Amino acid sequence: MKKVSLLAPGPTPVPPRTLLAMAQPLIHHRSSDFLEIFGKVRDGLKKIFKTDNDVLVFCSSGTGAMESSVANLLSPGDKAIAIRGGKFGERWTEILEAYGCVPVNLDVEWGYAVKPADVAKLLADDPEIKAVYVQALETSTGVSHPIKELAEVTKGTDVVLVVDAVSALAAYDIPSDEWDLDVVISGSQKALMLPPGLAFASIGPKAKKMMESSTCPKFYFSWAKELKTQSINKGAFTSPVPLFLGLLDIFALIEEMGGLDTIYKETEIKSKAFKAAVAAWGLELFSKENASTGLTAVMAPEGIDAQDVVGWLKNKYAIFIAGGQAQAKGKIFRVAHMGFISEFDTLQAISAIEMALAGLGYDFEMGSGVAAAQKVFEEA
Ligand SMILES: *Cc1c(COP(=O)(O)O)cnc(C)c1O
Repeated sequence: MKKVSLLAPGPTPVPPRTLLAMAQPLIHHRSSDFLEIFGKVRDGLKKIFKTDNDVLVFCSSGTGAMESSVANLLSPGDKAIAIRGGKFGERWTEILEAYGCVPVNLDVEWGYAVKPADVAKLLADDPEIKAVYVQALETSTGVSHPIKELAEVTKGTDVVLVVDAVSALAAYDIPSDEWDLDVVISGSQKALMLPPGLAFASIGPKAKKMMESSTCPKFYFSWAKELKTQSINKGAFTSPVPLFLGLLDIFALIEEMGGLDTIYKETEIKSKAFKAAVAAWGLELFSKENASTGLTAVMAPEGIDAQDVVGWLKNKYAIFIAGGQAQAKGKIFRVAHMGFISEFDTLQAISAIEMALAGLGYDFEMGSGVAAAQKVFEEA
């Protein structure tokens, strides 16, 4: 078996020391030791989210927390804007429909960012709209939506802004309270460097108020139930104890790595180096504006199926990058810079992609991407 490299935008590699921190004899989720761990997890999450709001923890993948933000805020028939600039934006529409809510779809061409003025106009035209659902980083296109500016639109109104930051949180700065974000959602397996299995939702005062009148059905993902129990450091149901231990280790690791600002900066440098390689190959980014630092989405050369690049890396080298989803399938490949991915992991991805591109018949100078990225790292 080859050494596996996870360089796709989720799941990302888990630091070995964190794996060890999770490999402890199981303790009971109602023991006093675990209550203490739960308390530390709650405090630590507030620091990562940069909020004083409660941050609820669920045992699910990120989509569970997304779903909870529809089930707990809205009632059947309620209207909400779904900003759809990619696969994850489309998920908001699907969830809204599943709960009998009425999505007001704001379609954004894939590769572009939403214009806050368009959201403001929809809200001005229809006072019945109760919420705006958006991604911070639309992982399927590599575009970061302008969250700060969107929050300026919803601030001071009754409209709740729900931000899916599953791939953005801890990759770049999304200060929840400074920007007035009502609900921020995240998950464990992206920039937080953990295995999949934890989802988070921070819940601000406006959202808490809206929650009181929500009549959508909910059981496992009930915010009211979890707010009550988590305030005394207990999950309503069995907590995934090892993942909590892992998360505590990640908090410590983030501090040891120099804190969040250092991590944002390092993510930015890896992104810059990778994007320099893409330019050296003569290829283009799929993200036409607001290209995120958390990952890079690259357009495959004319005549080459991007899935073949992804397959080449996976089958020959056990390196996992991601292809495109839905309409971008076959056209793009995506590489992560978030999380526990080093400069040399990034160079490894660049070098492997060069070998794949050459093998698939693309005419370019072998090594040009590696050299361009090395230069960025040397100058950083
Ligand atoms: C990964 C991701 C999710 C969550 O997906 P799950 O498979 O449910 O963990 C949600 N939104 C975005 C933007 C993501 O990148």
